[in-house]
Amino acid sequence: MNLPDSLWAASAAPAADTPPLAGKQGADVAIVGGGFTGLSAALHLAEAGKSAIVMEAGEPGWGASGRNGGQVNPGWRIAPSEIAAKYGGNRAPAVLDMLDRAPDLVFDLIGRHGIACDHERPGFVHAGFGRFGKAYLEAWVKEWGELGVTVERYDRAGLEALIGTGFYHLGMRDPRGGHLQPLSYARGLARAAIAKGAAIHGKTRVRGVHREGRGWRLATDGGEVEAEHVLLCTNGYTDKVWPGLGKAVAPLTSFIAATEPLDAERLRQVLPGRHAVAETRRALHYFRLDRDNRFVIGGRGNFTNLNEPGSVEHLKRVATRIYPALEGVGWRYKWGGRAALTPDHTPRLFKLADRVHAGLGFNGRGVAMGSMFGVQLTRAVLGEETDMPIEPIDVIPNHAFRQFGLTWFLVTGRLLDRGDARETPPAFG
Ligand SMILES: Cc1cc2nc3c(=O)[nH]c(=O)nc-3n(C[C@H](O)[C@H](O)[C@H](O)COP(=O)(O)OP(=O)(O)OC[C@H]3O[C@@H](n4cnc5c(N)ncnc54)[C@H](O)[C@@H]3O)c2cc1C
Repeated sequence: MNLPDSLWAASAAPAADTPPLAGKQGADVAIVGGGFTGLSAALHLAEAGKSAIVMEAGEPGWGASGRNGGQVNPGWRIAPSEIAAKYGGNRAPAVLDMLDRAPDLVFDLIGRHGIACDHERPGFVHAGFGRFGKAYLEAWVKEWGELGVTVERYDRAGLEALIGTGFYHLGMRDPRGGHLQPLSYARGLARAAIAKGAAIHGKTRVRGVHREGRGWRLATDGGEVEAEHVLLCTNGYTDKVWPGLGKAVAPLTSFIAATEPLDAERLRQVLPGRHAVAETRRALHYFRLDRDNRFVIGGRGNFTNLNEPGSVEHLKRVATRIYPALEGVGWRYKWGGRAALTPDHTPRLFKLADRVHAGLGFNGRGVAMGSMFGVQLTRAVLGEETDMPIEPIDVIPNHAFRQFGLTWFLVTGRLLDRGDARETPPAFG
């Protein structure tokens, strides 16, 4: 379970010592999974005076948390009105407020715990095509605007001045977003949690979770943990440790490619404002620069083959279409990782049994939301009210056929995306 040969593994801050679990241990809370969600939960639990033990099959950040695009995205893919409709009048304001605060939480944690992770907050840019992109962006600007967020809209020329490409028809900049080095952030969360008293064990796969008296016993190859509470924080890497949990999400492998550092001439043309950019397309791409001015682009990879790394040739082609100045640049890194999708694009906070909770289904937006779910899971343990509703587990219908469904979504999505890109560029009304 080594880290992939990624840009993040090559440029991360050093990892804290997280030896495998040995022998019998006890804690208030046992946490399965050492990504942003599990690590944030451990940190917040430790700050609340609870003893927490994290068990991670690889090392902290080994999963998606150490492999992602590092974009601190505001919001979910669906607009506030859809969120309000889903959660209803009583719950929606708390959910929307939580969503609004999630990017701040990331930058606050970085500041409060002195996490060195090359973070920048130039804003998050959404760029799109055609009537679909326009409707999406208009809803975002209007609805988040009504909630007090000042989102700037850009037509094609304005967007070109902002991000250096006239490839898109229109876009917007949401000031809440930014980017960071994700593996360094995960390692920083681990260090902060350990400093507050949490125990973190790498190379420790949990093999089973069983009731033990009033609490739970978690068995690993080298030891076991007895705990009053259990948190499952395994997202796209959910295995069979809790029967049925894997059926609540559809794992999706996403790929990323990164160039050599760009020279000064290219840098004048590519992302001059150093924004984090994501497309509104259904089969979307996202891109940014890293600390050393490498261009980093990711996109939906393969629904049918969850192995990594896959081909990233399509990402290189797309990158050069977006920024012709990237023609001839050297591409140094390619890697992949698993995200977890849900049918309605929203994450889940489950109560699986007495004092057993899970937080997962971040739909490719887990930098801010995984960190925030650590807070939500902490509140669930403390018996405090959560912003996110706690639900019984709900599994995806016909989960066994999910790959066909996802492939269908990707294929039809790409066709619709192509149609949007060919439309006459619309202007904001
Ligand atoms: C390529 C890619 C790009 C992405 N880009 C972005 C982005 O730019 N912005 C954004 O917000 N989000 C992005 N995401 C999504 C984001 O990375 C995830 O939502 C987030 O990292 C999830 O964090 P997590 O802690 O819940 O899960 P993970 O980080 O995936 O961690 C789960 C961990 O659980 C461990 N585990 C599983 N089973 C067991 C077991 N039985 N015992 C012990 N350990 C176990 C695994 O080893 C794994 O490390 C991206 C995802 C991918 C794959």
